[in-house]
Amino acid sequence: MDKITASEAAGLGVGVLLVCATIAATKVDAFFSSSQRSSLGLCKQCGNLRRLACSRCKGTGSVREGGILGFTLVQDFYDERLGNSESNSKVKQIACVKCQAKGYFSCPNCSQL
Ligand SMILES: [Zn+2]
Ligand SMILES: [Zn+2]
Repeated sequence: MDKITASEAAGLGVGVLLVCATIAATKVDAFFSSSQRSSLGLCKQCGNLRRLACSRCKGTGSVREGGILGFTLVQDFYDERLGNSESNSKVKQIACVKCQAKGYFSCPNCSQL
């Protein structure tokens, strides 16, 4: 252990402390944002917006056909090879089935009230 000098040990300690502080800060931040919302009487899940954006269509209500599974990339590739430069405008937008094309869900927390 005599190979580690006092300043190295101190530096190590500070480094560990910094890491701990960073981890603690993010946890405290998450804790406060949810406790702040509840102390303000706001819904923890939606912050009283009463709706949650659909994770599948990112709130737009429509998705590119097959885009979820990456088929669109394959389609683009084939269209390019065929010289079909208009393919981009032909990409079908289909209604998001997850949210019934609304782009959001009503918050399960608030809708129970
Ligand atoms: Zn809510
Ligand atoms: Zn959706």
